[in-house]
Amino acid sequence: MTTIALGMPAARRDPRDAPPTDGRPAVPELVDRFGRVARDLRVSVTSACSLRCTYCMPEQGLPVPPREQMLQPGEIGRLVGIAVSELGIREVRFTGGEPLMRHDLAEIFAASRAAAPGIDISMTTNGIGLDRRLPALLAAGLNRVNVSLDTVDREHFRLLTRRDRLDAVIAGIRAARDAGLTPLKLNAVMMRETLADAPALLRWALDNGAQLRFIEQMPLDADHTWARDHMVPASELLAVLGQAFELTEVGRDDPSTPAEEWLVDGGPATVGIIASVTRTFCGACDRTRITAEGTVRSCLFGDDETDLRGLLRGGAGDAEVADRWRAAMWNKQAGHGISLPGFAAPERTMGAIGG
Ligand code: SAM
Ligand code: SF4
Repeated sequence: MTTIALGMPAARRDPRDAPPTDGRPAVPELVDRFGRVARDLRVSVTSACSLRCTYCMPEQGLPVPPREQMLQPGEIGRLVGIAVSELGIREVRFTGGEPLMRHDLAEIFAASRAAAPGIDISMTTNGIGLDRRLPALLAAGLNRVNVSLDTVDREHFRLLTRRDRLDAVIAGIRAARDAGLTPLKLNAVMMRETLADAPALLRWALDNGAQLRFIEQMPLDADHTWARDHMVPASELLAVLGQAFELTEVGRDDPSTPAEEWLVDGGPATVGIIASVTRTFCGACDRTRITAEGTVRSCLFGDDETDLRGLLRGGAGDAEVADRWRAAMWNKQAGHGISLPGFAAPERTMGAIGG
């Protein structure tokens, strides 16, 4: 059996080649050599975005591949169908870049819904334009959204996202709430520049019926400015929130759920904290990712990718596509390794992988 050092990326291969499968048990699921099983599929549909969050995108945005290199709605639907019916995937979330930048997003959802009628379809979005697009997306099969919002301070929002679009994001969140999309979750990356705004953001989320989750900043920004001694650890955020709210730890019911929950002022409202850097949960990771160009990515931090688009376009059957996907996941690395000496950030950044 090939062994992979904890957190170290596998050697780079040509993504068109099948990854090694020595020792892989003959089970249908997406298992890896550390005993984890992937049940949660993230599908990135573009690297384009309407914002330029400093922890994610470069000022000029990321290059967007030509249309023919991106998966088309029918291809995405086919992969979702294979994932659910052949590979044991139970949740599908669309992401990017910004999914709403795809004009054919409703077609993508409709194709996925047709291929996997019983599955929950959710989307992570910055919310810009969601109010206008929501009816068509709901009709196509969308069930839930997570909207990213880091601060409700207009000037801080403008500086962090390099765009003055706070009102548009809020309109998107309110449209999702008014459409009854529950639970409505908000994601906020903990940044030093907006740390003092955290209590106001939590108050805003509670007032607007949304569940807020803070996420530790990971070294996945295009500008490579992440620094351990500058990032805000969960412990520091808890201290800031603790000055405005009474927080009681609830913990986490499901070990594969990265958010640790805290009751706010005795509950029932909660706030979540995803301490991806300081309390790594890689050992319970159950994710598999498809990039907008149709490669499988087994880990956010592993640049080793396996191409499925070529198989789809070359006439491969579902069983062959599923086998290639299993082989890709078998080679998943043990963890992100951010704290290990010699850690190097992956080549693709968050917006190009799909968070
Ligand atoms: N554009 C959509 C959005 O912002 O929700 C979807 C894509 S975005 C890459 C997905 C999630 O990744 C967002 O919640 C975003 O805040 C988070 N994210 C981006 N860069 C990050 C980083 N360096 N560390 C932690 N989370 C990050
Ligand atoms: Fe765009 Fe989302 Fe990245 Fe912000 S986090 S730049 S909204 S892809």
